Amino acid sequence: MIHVTKTFLPKQEDYNALLKRSWDTQWITNRGDLVKELESKIKETFNIPYMIATTNGTLPLQIAIKALGLTGEIITTPFSYIATSSVIAWEGCKPVFADIDPETFNIDPSKIEAQITAKTSGIIATHVFGNPCDIEAMDKIAQKYNIKVIYDAAHCFGVEYKGKSVFNYGDVSTCSFHATKIFHTGEGGAMFTKDLELFETLYYKHNFGHNGPEEFHGLGINAKMSELQAAMGLAVFPHFNEILKRRHQLYNVYIENLKVSDQLQFQKIREYTAYNCAYFPVVFLSEDILDLVKNVLNGESIFPRRYFYPSLNTVSYLNGESMPISESLSKRILCLPLYFDLKEDDVLQICRLIHKSLN
Ligand SMILES: *Cc1c(COP(=O)(O)O)cnc(C)c1O
Repeated sequence: MIHVTKTFLPKQEDYNALLKRSWDTQWITNRGDLVKELESKIKETFNIPYMIATTNGTLPLQIAIKALGLTGEIITTPFSYIATSSVIAWEGCKPVFADIDPETFNIDPSKIEAQITAKTSGIIATHVFGNPCDIEAMDKIAQKYNIKVIYDAAHCFGVEYKGKSVFNYGDVSTCSFHATKIFHTGEGGAMFTKDLELFETLYYKHNFGHNGPEEFHGLGINAKMSELQAAMGLAVFPHFNEILKRRHQLYNVYIENLKVSDQLQFQKIREYTAYNCAYFPVVFLSEDILDLVKNVLNGESIFPRRYFYPSLNTVSYLNGESMPISESLSKRILCLPLYFDLKEDDVLQICRLIHKSLN
């Protein structure tokens, strides 16, 4: 069976050796050595000033909304995982959608301005599948209207834009280290900022607002990463370059074999991007064709996923207006299997089955 993704598991003995440190110190959460070491390694490797490891990739979005004081309306993309929108509603704000660019699949800055009202406090945009947003245009809008930008960079581990980690852009950037993501800690995530004062606010908020055992800086919640999660991260991290390299190889095999078809569209990766090949999305001419291809692949025990479907503006409790580009893309896009130990022969077989279904 081939699924859209497969979790990279390090050698169990490597994981156990890291866990032994927790057993030795009897310290399994509340920012022990393993969490601190994971943060240091990531910050050093990607040249990031401030990072806080968290227990998943959703809480950092909620904490960022709180820390930046966002209220009222937040403009966001209809083409993302549900968490990008649901955190806005969960924090008592209103998600206001702006449609996407049909080539990059990211929120279209030219659609954002039309949605800005006196109630708009910020933007939450996803770098979809690890492809950086039009960061310069977003910055301009944020400055002009004095609003904040949060990037949901859940897919972006290892991505660079203009020679810098993509986590360095926006007021706050967040990542997910969920088991399905390119780098993982089982469950886990992180938040990043370049601003020391904001970092401190985020830091307090992720640990109940504690400022020492008996004092509180302000309202907080619990988003701490445990030592057990960090141990997984530290066991996986040394393999990250290998993982990236392998994904690039397989990604290129897909492109080489599928680009010959004029019935398929691929995501346009932005210029100046060192891409991480976190996903391999392919877009069909219609939803009927997608269903056909998906059924053929399923018949061979191959299970691609409809990322992202449905378009978030159509989710009933989010009350979005119509977003024609996102809705059309959502119906026609399929993410093909892509993971470290996927075989090149399997990629070739998937490509053959797609060509056969299209003819
Ligand atoms: C995975 C994902 C999240 C949520 O991350 P968790 O670690 O599962 O909480 C948020 N946004 C996007 C775009 C994601 O893909």
